[in-house]
Amino acid sequence: MHHGIKKLLLLGAGPAHLQVLARLAQNRPADLDVTVLTPYPHHTHSGMTTGLMVGRYSAKDCQIPLEPLVKAAGARCVQGRCAALDAAGQTVLVGPTGKDLAPSELTYHLLSIDTGAVFDRTRLEADMPGASTHALMVRPVEVFATLWPQVMERAVNRPLSIAVVGAGAAGLELLFAAEQCLRLHGAAGARFTLITGGTEPAEDQPRGVQRRVLRRLKALGITVLRDTCVGMDHGVVRLGGGAELACDLPLLAIGTHAPAWLTGSGLALCEAGHVLVNEHQQSTSHPNVFAAGDVATRADAPHPRHGVHAVRAGPTLATNLLAAHEGSALTPHHPPKHTLNLLSCGAGHAIASWGPLHAEGAWAWAWKDRIDRAFVAAHTRHATPAAAR
Ligand SMILES: Cc1cc2nc3c(=O)[nH]c(=O)nc-3n(C[C@H](O)[C@H](O)[C@H](O)COP(=O)(O)OP(=O)(O)OC[C@H]3O[C@@H](n4cnc5c(N)ncnc54)[C@H](O)[C@@H]3O)c2cc1C
Repeated sequence: MHHGIKKLLLLGAGPAHLQVLARLAQNRPADLDVTVLTPYPHHTHSGMTTGLMVGRYSAKDCQIPLEPLVKAAGARCVQGRCAALDAAGQTVLVGPTGKDLAPSELTYHLLSIDTGAVFDRTRLEADMPGASTHALMVRPVEVFATLWPQVMERAVNRPLSIAVVGAGAAGLELLFAAEQCLRLHGAAGARFTLITGGTEPAEDQPRGVQRRVLRRLKALGITVLRDTCVGMDHGVVRLGGGAELACDLPLLAIGTHAPAWLTGSGLALCEAGHVLVNEHQQSTSHPNVFAAGDVATRADAPHPRHGVHAVRAGPTLATNLLAAHEGSALTPHHPPKHTLNLLSCGAGHAIASWGPLHAEGAWAWAWKDRIDRAFVAAHTRHATPAAAR
């Protein structure tokens, strides 16, 4: 890439960008001006959301404060959301934050995107009318975490009926955590239903993991409906098969969307609207744009949208952003073929899998707990000046 790159803009503070900031904290070129645009003053580690629901973690346990890390990296933080991107004009429009402190436009020479996946309310309403009004959505996890205590307040007074829509890893973790929470702290008689979208629960996982999930669902008395949710109304979930399910609260954990602001950005996008990147995590259409995590799709090697892939892409992303600034060769990122997946079944029990291997137990939950806490601690510690450690 060419020289003259003086302004690096990081959109979002997902796990890949935390690692970019950590690398910049060790070695930031003096002539590189770095800005981070992020809606929250902290990164919430989503893998710990269900532990937060069941009271194993405090909100603080799950959060990585951004200010110290940004400061250590010699960067500046702008609190706000990307609302539009003009890749040709190298400009980002910042959406309102509620505080109106953010400048309305940011320009860049080099851009990196790690803003994660979203629920696009317009698309959601088209597929599932009523969902954006009546369902509690798991994303953004920061909002979900503040609303869950309100559900528990209701659950203490009367038995609730909860339907989880979406039977991927996030939906299952959410369901198991909700069941554990209400069993331990709610009024007796709560009911749970899993609406899978027509597939088996944990469809993208190995058969052995699916069997373990089914056994657990059965043991907890959770009803599984292999049907699609096609709409919602107050107290009702409508199913594709024509039936209606009465429920107090639908929890939505279906596959998420690409951000709407990517449409019209000029960037090459995959069919589903995510940023199409090559083996260097570099946009296939704009060499001065990089992306990682759930917002990106690898053109050469598509992989599932898991946090672990966002984390693994971080070091190469950091290397390539610095290489792009220097004008030196980029390094390919090879996503791992197999990743360690730890599906938490409420606090204290998890199903572990790696490729075709799988097992479960309290030890798997303790393993996940150690990994998650270590991730948060590493990035919190990184932000602490060496002398103070
Ligand atoms: C309940 C739950 C549990 C999960 N558990 C696991 C697990 O155990 N293991 C696993 O591998 N994966 C897990 N996942 C999936 C995992 O969370 C995601 O795959 C991972 O977070 C993706 O990382 P990311 O960097 O793409 O996005 P994120 O981690 O979502 O980070 C994106 C960042 O960008 C910010 N942002 C969003 N929009 C904008 C905008 N417009 N402008 C600027 N900034 C913006 C966000 O605030 C956030 O800080 C779980 C997901 C959920 C919902």
